[in-house]
Amino acid sequence: MGANPVAVDYGMPLLARRGGPNLAKPYSNSDLMKLAVEEHLKCTEFPKVGVVVAKEGELLSTGFRGEVPNLHAERVALEKLSPSARIGATVFTTLEPCVSIQPSQVIESCADLIIASGVREVFVGVLDPNGTIYSQGFRKLLENGISVKFFQRKLREAIEEETFEYGVIEKVVGSGKRRVPVVGSGINITVQFSEADQRSIDISWGSLQPIHGCVDLLSNNGAVRIASGASKFSDISDPTVFRFPSHFARMKKGMIAIVQPKGATFCILIKLIDLFEKDIYFQWEVRNLP
Ligand SMILES: [Zn+2]
Repeated sequence: MGANPVAVDYGMPLLARRGGPNLAKPYSNSDLMKLAVEEHLKCTEFPKVGVVVAKEGELLSTGFRGEVPNLHAERVALEKLSPSARIGATVFTTLEPCVSIQPSQVIESCADLIIASGVREVFVGVLDPNGTIYSQGFRKLLENGISVKFFQRKLREAIEEETFEYGVIEKVVGSGKRRVPVVGSGINITVQFSEADQRSIDISWGSLQPIHGCVDLLSNNGAVRIASGASKFSDISDPTVFRFPSHFARMKKGMIAIVQPKGATFCILIKLIDLFEKDIYFQWEVRNLP
């Protein structure tokens, strides 16, 4: 379903722009990070992981999670190479490599594979928020004499947004973007004005119809209005100008709605960025009423 949400404009796909991987001019580390993000964006399951393997600026292989069923992206990319090609290579991975967490684990962890392969250097996008892995992969690589560096900040932020801003949530604060599952009867979310300001408005998402490209945004009676004609939040200088309140809005990709229950002292702008088979990707921003 649809394209992956892209949080940062990466421009044209690098491979297309460069005319393929075999040009004489080497890729910079920054190019290779972007290529890893392009792999990352190909994933259809979470957590997303994209990997490229390079040596002295030459792209050797790529991999993403889901490319080969049940194989982690690091393994997908490394196993495309001969053992000798792996020696001295640099691995760019959007997510921290996993470590063995159970002694009974049959297949070696990605950190172990990287170490055994003789990889010289690893660039990591983000550390794994999974508490049993968090920074352990990073540490293990360092302890084994591998140089570990991180992606540029902007790319890290984009990866983080793409990788983890997903899952069941009950409360969001201020402004942001989330990808949330909408299955069955939907999902209820409380939007709180800020960490310090506990004012809140409840919204819910339901009736996702991917075939028709729409999903319903619901709130209390008469709380939801469509911001007709607006394509970004900055287009809306005064949210109160929009009319035709309803208890729900049938949202299509790109649409913006305003949620303002009776008596509320603030409102929420909500944009549906994208929708998929079982989940949606939306952005919100709270605004004090004028
Ligand atoms: Zn792994």
